[in-house]
Amino acid sequence: MKSNSSNPSGISSSIVASNMNGNGFHDDDEIVVVSGSSPDLYLDDEPVRRSQKTDPELGRRVAQFLLEKGVATPQIDTGLNDEEKRTIIARNFAEIMKTLGLDLSDDSLADTPKRVAQMYVDEIFFGLDWRNFPKCTTVENKMGYSSMVIERNINVQSNCEHHFAIIDGRAHVAYIPRKKVLGLSKINRIVEYFSKRPQIQERLTEQIFYALSYILDTEDIAVLIHAKHYCVKSRGVEDVNSDTVTSKLGGAFLLNSATRSEFMRAVNSVTNP
Ligand SMILES: [Zn+2]
Repeated sequence: MKSNSSNPSGISSSIVASNMNGNGFHDDDEIVVVSGSSPDLYLDDEPVRRSQKTDPELGRRVAQFLLEKGVATPQIDTGLNDEEKRTIIARNFAEIMKTLGLDLSDDSLADTPKRVAQMYVDEIFFGLDWRNFPKCTTVENKMGYSSMVIERNINVQSNCEHHFAIIDGRAHVAYIPRKKVLGLSKINRIVEYFSKRPQIQERLTEQIFYALSYILDTEDIAVLIHAKHYCVKSRGVEDVNSDTVTSKLGGAFLLNSATRSEFMRAVNSVTNP
């Protein structure tokens, strides 16, 4: 197993707002290898990584807020723990493979059900569990910063809920601080958290918006996502070039055309350089 990649999430982003550096907004995320599963389940896979800093209580409150806003992912409480989920998924994925006519006695295929189960529970769908919500400590906006903060080019790796096929894109998120300021890497973490569940892009956009709105206590927030949907690219109409753009604008971004233009200019300059 490899370890200690310096940029495990592949996130690349930039700060557009000036005078934001040096104010201590950056905080380091510690990434850990999630234990509890045998490493020999992997062939040459990267280790499971997840932000170490989670805030289950905040996750529960954000989940409740999304429910009130009507943008929650349709979910039921199974009462299963992660180990039970992995066991059941592995058993059922083996059935899918056998039904397709694959020979699970082949040593290349034998552990695939276990690997898929682990990937679902610990990696690509860990955002279904509100207990995995990232810790998002806010700081008081002591310097009275009231201009736009924009985090651009946030990596979006998700899966569509209709086909479980890849959604691959970028998110651009802006807000205007009121009383609270959020560590910049936390915006990336929130995008990552909601990406790690079966999604539709519209809901992903809304969930990021309302989670930030709850945490920052403002609606002066803009979220724009452009992404390629592999269910469109590799099946169905097989359109390899199209992408999908969704946005959710609130508060000043909705009401003030100058604010909206500033955001769109900043986004366009990275998407159409
Ligand atoms: Zn799809």
